[in-house]
Amino acid sequence: MVIIMKTGASPEEIAEVTHSIEREGFTPFENPGVERKVIAVLGVIHSHKLQLVDKFQNLPGVERVALISEPYKLPSRQCHPQDTVFEVGGVPVGGKTLAIFAGPCSIESEAQAIETARAVKAAGANFFRGGAYKPRSSPYAFQGLGEEGLKILAACREETGLPVITEVVDPDDVEKVCQYADFLQIGARNMQNYRLLQRVGQARTPVLLKRGFGTRLREMLMAAEYIMVEGNHRVALCERGIITFEDSTRYTTDINAVPVLKHLSHLPVILDPSHATGFSRYVGAVAKAGVAAGADGLLLEVHPNPAEALSDGPQSLKPEAFASLMRELARVASAVDRALPEQGA
Ligand code: PEP
Ligand code: MN
Repeated sequence: MVIIMKTGASPEEIAEVTHSIEREGFTPFENPGVERKVIAVLGVIHSHKLQLVDKFQNLPGVERVALISEPYKLPSRQCHPQDTVFEVGGVPVGGKTLAIFAGPCSIESEAQAIETARAVKAAGANFFRGGAYKPRSSPYAFQGLGEEGLKILAACREETGLPVITEVVDPDDVEKVCQYADFLQIGARNMQNYRLLQRVGQARTPVLLKRGFGTRLREMLMAAEYIMVEGNHRVALCERGIITFEDSTRYTTDINAVPVLKHLSHLPVILDPSHATGFSRYVGAVAKAGVAAGADGLLLEVHPNPAEALSDGPQSLKPEAFASLMRELARVASAVDRALPEQGA
């Protein structure tokens, strides 16, 4: 349920509505910074729904009360009609300028990371990505450098000025990762790790939530709710491909997810064509499709020497290929009234 206040409702009227929600045993959530105040009523409404609607409807300053049919509320566009834009290290996520998260799948060494960070910055990325804790399908595969990788990421930020994003896989690591990273990534395999979602929700570092490869968008929005209800509202949603019967690519890009998520939610939507396709030769086409479909940004794996990469080499772009893709993306972006970040800015 959301309560839409009249334009110009007074602070006293708003306070009365929030007290009234609390008196009924629910938690009010006020969306900040919107021209017409919308107050969400959080909690499970088991009975007397219509009486509650009536009661809230009759309070002074209330324009109308709307029932939200979906079980997720905080990520819902019904609860927050405008697109959310938030800043991370001075870089906006959402809004006209696309967020381009680029870098290697894994941080392998300081030299590899710094070289890649410099290259992606020069080509116009506005975030540097790199995994320090890698959730690998095989326990024998490279698991990441751990805290050493986080230190290298921080050094890359120091070197380039780009804010850095990295995955956190263990709820007990959240605090440590927040000391080094500007943005936390929740990987596909952990989208429904509810303890982890709660912990990143308690942190104040923004979160990129990747879609589980076998989950519905509704479940992804419920995962976002887990984070937001803990107080962290800087969440971006990332489509990264789902498992289908098609096996000529690693996963299948659910391009529909972009307009569907934009319709259902106010949160920024990012597309990851690297994991979705699994092959560098397809990444550019799907990246362009994502921007044309309305994505607010892209996550792209870039490695100076993909053949030697310790993870996800086949889908990683060489720096030159990334730079040339960025030039093509600029043209697609301008066709849909978006823009790439300024190069090297
Ligand atoms: C990654 O970004 O390197 C990664 C492991 O992605 P996903 O969780 O989408 O597989
Ligand atoms: Mn990867």
